[in-house]
Amino acid sequence: METKFWEVKKNPEAAIAEAAGLIAAGEVVAFPTETVYGLGADGLNGTAVAKIFAAKGRPADNPLILHIADTEQIYPLTSGLNANARALMDTFWPGPLTIVVPRSELVPDIVTAGLDTVAVRMPSHPVAAALIRAAGCPIAAPSANVSGKPSPTNAQDVADDMTGKVAGILDGGSCGIGVESTVVDTTSPVPTILRPGGITREMLEERLGAVEIDPALNGDPALRPKAPGMKYRHYAPKAPMYLYEGTLAAQRLTEAVLRAQKQGLHVGVLCDDTVKGRLEESLRRGHTAEIFSWGQGKADLAEHLYELLRDFDRVSPELIIAMGVDEKGLGLAVMNRLRKAAGYQILQAEEGSITVKSGSGFPEFLFS
Ligand code: AMP
Ligand code: MG
Repeated sequence: METKFWEVKKNPEAAIAEAAGLIAAGEVVAFPTETVYGLGADGLNGTAVAKIFAAKGRPADNPLILHIADTEQIYPLTSGLNANARALMDTFWPGPLTIVVPRSELVPDIVTAGLDTVAVRMPSHPVAAALIRAAGCPIAAPSANVSGKPSPTNAQDVADDMTGKVAGILDGGSCGIGVESTVVDTTSPVPTILRPGGITREMLEERLGAVEIDPALNGDPALRPKAPGMKYRHYAPKAPMYLYEGTLAAQRLTEAVLRAQKQGLHVGVLCDDTVKGRLEESLRRGHTAEIFSWGQGKADLAEHLYELLRDFDRVSPELIIAMGVDEKGLGLAVMNRLRKAAGYQILQAEEGSITVKSGSGFPEFLFS
């Protein structure tokens, strides 16, 4: 299939009109949102939505989010909204928040994977909003990656995964937030975070009072996540990845990288600017470590995490060593992604000890 590529800023009206025309005609088009790039089709057309699953290789039991541009668009999609759902819409839309609500008959089964609820979001990205309005339908859209790969946060990463598989790609530049939307189930007695994201737990609690987090999110294989998609190994780079958490994560990572270098390993490193600077000073000239920094702070980590994971695949290290951040604010969302990327191979680095938090088969040099 020929894949059209529009640079939106060159001619926004024409690009959006053409892309919307393809969506209205039952085709699949990738588009930017403030979180990550989405792969969109007419959300009320089951045949069109099936093309999304085919392009991504997405398992059929993983439901999609319906994207809308105006509040009224949610009413035909749901059999009813409770006070929590309405409060969340009023406070956080448009923005990186998806709410799970009871579905209506109008929503095709393929969108909800047969569940009796549907996930809905109103993105704030102007290109996404314009596309939805021009297409004249809710747009079903998962992230625009091949299933299992990190979500794309720029149009080139979309093109790498989707050229030849979809009708078009709208290039609207890089996504500002960088991790997917927060998914909140509003149908449970206490609103529950099914996927942490750009809207933090603290922000939700300030509006709603108590909010729960799906206990399956911390990687316990015995628990079944309520968002079907959270059970899949996601976001994984090709090389095995090990994650240091805890107060001494940065220091232990630095020491481990120096030992790996001595052993002649081609190691990838994921850290912040401070640690990168320190490492480059300590490593000898001509070292082979691939040190990728996300910048400084959690917002930078969220924004750049996926592109850095994809960059690791381009330089093919033997293994990747990463450091974590605390779970406050955006930390919950980024740590959820980092832990998955590491396949839950996690070491806890505290004063005087490095212990295995989860996982097995760690290389010896990660400890001392
Ligand atoms: P993505 O489309 O890649 O952004 O992923 C959407 C996420 O929302 C996946 O983890 C889905 O499993 C989840 N999701 C979508 N619809 C529902 C629903 N009705 N109930 C629970 N989780 C949902
Ligand atoms: Mg996804």
